[in-house]
Parts: sequence; C-alpha cells; structure tokens
Amino acid sequence: MAKEGHKYVFVLGGVMSGVGKGVVTSSLGLLLEQKGYPVNLVKVDPYLNVDAGTMNPTEHGEVFVLRSGLETDQDMGNYERFLGRDLTNDDYMTSGMVYQSVIARERALEYGGKCVEAIPHVRDEILRRIGKAAAYNGSRVSVIEIGGTIGDFQNALFIEAARVLKMNQPEDVLFVMVSYLPTPGTLGEMKTKPTQTAVRDLNSYGVQPDFIIARSREPIDEKRKEKLAVWCNVRKDRVIAAPDIKSIYEAPINFEKDKLGNALLDALKLPEKRRASLATWKKFALATADTKAPEVHIAIVGKYFDTGDFVLSDAYLSVIEAIKFSAAKLGRQPKITWVNSKSIERDTKTLAALARYDGIIVPGGFGETGIEGKIQAIRFAREKKIPYFGLCYGMQLMVIEYARNVLALKGAHTTEIKKSAEDPVVDVMLEQKKHIADNKYGGTMRLGAYPCYLKKNTIARGAYKSELVEERHRHRYEINPAYVKRLEEAGLVFSGTSPDGVLMEIAELPRTAHPFMLGTQFHPEFQARPLSPHPLFTEFLRAAIAQKKNKRVA
Ligand code: GLN
Repeated sequence: MAKEGHKYVFVLGGVMSGVGKGVVTSSLGLLLEQKGYPVNLVKVDPYLNVDAGTMNPTEHGEVFVLRSGLETDQDMGNYERFLGRDLTNDDYMTSGMVYQSVIARERALEYGGKCVEAIPHVRDEILRRIGKAAAYNGSRVSVIEIGGTIGDFQNALFIEAARVLKMNQPEDVLFVMVSYLPTPGTLGEMKTKPTQTAVRDLNSYGVQPDFIIARSREPIDEKRKEKLAVWCNVRKDRVIAAPDIKSIYEAPINFEKDKLGNALLDALKLPEKRRASLATWKKFALATADTKAPEVHIAIVGKYFDTGDFVLSDAYLSVIEAIKFSAAKLGRQPKITWVNSKSIERDTKTLAALARYDGIIVPGGFGETGIEGKIQAIRFAREKKIPYFGLCYGMQLMVIEYARNVLALKGAHTTEIKKSAEDPVVDVMLEQKKHIADNKYGGTMRLGAYPCYLKKNTIARGAYKSELVEERHRHRYEINPAYVKRLEEAGLVFSGTSPDGVLMEIAELPRTAHPFMLGTQFHPEFQARPLSPHPLFTEFLRAAIAQKKNKRVA
C-alpha cells in the first residue's frame, strides 16, 4: 500500500486525447521539484500490451527505452527530459503488466481459492504499483498520468484505484483534469460545455477534479473561468488557462506565471520551500523558440511517415528533441524535413534533392520497407560529403553501404532482411537467435544501457570527452565481427565498442575523409536533455552548420 502522508496528483484527460496531459505532468513535476519537493512521475497506459515495445510507432508514437531497458511510452521521454534525470521501471505501468501480475499470482494459488476479480484484485495491484513507485528515493509527491480520456472503458479501473486512494488519504490526493475548450469556426466563440460534461462524467466515478487545466487555442477569459468554476465546482483560481504554445518547454514557465505551482502546493497543504528558479530553463526555452536564429536544415530519411492522420513527429520524437537541444546550444533554429525513403527508391529527383540539406539523419527502424532508399541516401551523404548521423538501423545501413560500395561486396546485407545474404555484414546477435526461433519478441531485444568504450583520436571520443560512456540500446542485430577487420582496412573506424571489444557500437569515417559520417548502434537521442544536449548530436549539428557555410562560399 501507498506511503502515509505521501502526496499524489492524478492527471486525467477530459473531452479528447492529445491535448498535452504528458506536458502538464512533466511541467508539474518540474515545478514541484523546483519548489523543493522531489517527485516521481508515473505514466499509466491502459492498453493490454505488457510494454510499448510490441507497438507500431505509426500508431502509438515512439517507443522510449528506459535506462533499465523497459520499453515505454513516449511520454516517459518527456518526463525524463523535463526532470533532467532517469526514470525507473516502477514509473511505468500498463494494464497488460497489471493483469500479468494478477494472473501469475492466481496461477501460483496465491489468492487462496478466492474468485479473482477486477475489484478488488486488479485495483489493488494498481495501488501496489503506485505505492512502489512512490517509494522512490526521497519522493514526496507522485504525479500520475492516467492515459486515455475520462469515459473510456480501458482506464476506468485506474480511476477507481485513484478514487480509493483519495478515500483512504483524503488530504493527500488531488485530481487535475486537462480539458479542451474548442472554438468552432462557425461560432468564433470558445465553448465550455464539453468540459462541463467531462467533469460530470468524472463525477459519476465518484471523483471531483481539484484543478482544471483549460487547453485552448487562445487563453480562456475571466467569464469562461467563472463559468467553469461554477458549473464544474472547481475554485476559480484553480481553473488554469493553457493556450497553445510554440514550444512545450514554455509550459512550466507559463504555469509558474499563473501561480499553478503554489496553488498546487496550497491544495496539497505543503509550504513552498523555495522559489522556483527557472532562469536556466527560460534561457533554453527562449533559444528553442528563437525564430530569428540562423537556420540549419536537416533531412530525416525514414519510413514511418505515411499513415492516415498520424502525427509524423511522434515516431521519432526523441530524435527531434535531441536536435532541438543541440541546435539551441549552438544558437541555431533547426528546420527538419521528412524524406520518405520509399520515394527515394521510386525517383532519382528525391535523392538529388538531398543536396539541399546541411545534414542527413537515418534514424532507427525495422524491416525491409524503404531500406534501399535509405542506403542510397547514405551513399549520397558519403559521396557528396554531407554530414551524416545514423542511429541504430542508420548505423547498420551505413556499414552495409560502405561494404557494398567501398569494399565492393555487392551482396552485403543484414540477415534481418536477407537470411541467406552473400555477405551478412549485419547479423543477428547470438543471444537473439533463440528468442526469434521461439517467437519470443516482447521485451527480448538487447535493451537499455550498456557501457561503450571510445577509441582515442576519434570524432566520438572528441565529442564525449570521455573514454567510457553509457548509452541505451534497442536492437537484435549487430555488425558481424567477421567483417570488422576488412571494413577497418577499407577506412571505416569503429570508434566505440563494448568494453570487451566484441560489439561494434560506433562507426565513423575519419575527418580527413568526410566532415561527419558517424553511426551509433545505440540510441543517443534517449539521453539528450534540454539542459545537457547530447554531445554526438551537437557535434553532428556543428558539422552541418560548417557545411552550410561552405555551401554559401561555393
Ligand atoms: N532492426 C535493427 C535491429 O534490430 C535496428 C533496430 C533499431 O534501429 N532500433 O538490430
């Protein structure tokens, strides 16, 4: 059970999804910590997948890998970025995880012959997990985001667990509803009714929101604040305006301006221990929003670009954020263009158009679709000396391209795509063979943080300024050790390896051969943070900026 006296803030969504519960949760976490209260942030995902690793990024967005290796929702990435530190397995739960624990217990006869039911058994497992997360070192407040929208079947048990917690510790639990106020084009007037209805819905669970974060296009006016206060039974000073913003990093600054942090502490009966000092954060947020800064143009060549109304950026969220942080540090405004690798395969114009960009990234990926287009883009970057940064698949394909076109191994490939490749330059990792043979795909990749040793006098070592680093992984395939010597003899440098030298973690070309051609087997984007940008992204952008200058001179 949860700790006595510990505080819990539940963040729920009303009206519709996608209006920024994750950003609100992250911002509340940042403000509370700034005011002297260590927090833990928890994401509850109501789906039955045991983790996010088995979900297609075009439907669910990026899979964010924790240091531990747990595959989670992209919101966890925002939490880590706002807090500036790593989160743990206890900070994430899905219905799948919860049910799996309950069913395992049932199979072990731990319920002593009782009928196992959603209430109390599943609900209590949710509460057990919330309590475990709250036990995090020194945490005083848990901010818990419940995925989905009020009224969904899927998240009802989580809301019920929160209600019971409030019943047991009425002084310690708060509910924050993130709602949306639409302004229909035909009326030109902002409407509060959907929010009123959502609150009534929530009331039917036995839950009353303490705060309403009113998301909208324009800031909500006093009249509407009053209306919401009266009709939703929420104090007017706890109805908080949250109009659209250019950058999510402005959110905590705006909330602090509206005194949300103190209102929250007041509601939790906690005194403010110190004033929030957001000066460094503000500087960073201003830099990301500085539209007058000179631009740097980056092409991201990938395949997760073409499903219905899906938001492009979600599949590669951490990559985009990592670019933003390094660009802000270098005083540049990044302009990102999505290039579909399938179009590169279809017409040569798309390939030639890559010459416009200052830098090219091929991010992580799986499977065959668009892979030859990516390899063509990599060849183009190498031959035209455009800075290139390959992330995971982007590194494996960089090595395949090198083997094919420099070593003249025309049959070079990855066995992920071609089992009987003539030259399996990228091959399945030994430990992975059994998982694949047994159809065990969930949570079995090489996941999470591993140490990486950096060779002297390389771009990687120069960027990190360190000999040993730790980076997060998510892959089943690796550079085939049988080809390493030949690739090295042909000029490729494996500047990062596992400390025993067996696994190739970074490949690069020397500066004398190319301004920046580097790929990582790991995902550096997962460790890029607003106030500590990732050194490899910074180095890549530095090369891209220099490239831009050269282009202007030419
Ligand atoms: N598909 C490749 C592998 O499994 C790369 C994975 C990735 O890019 N995350 O090794």
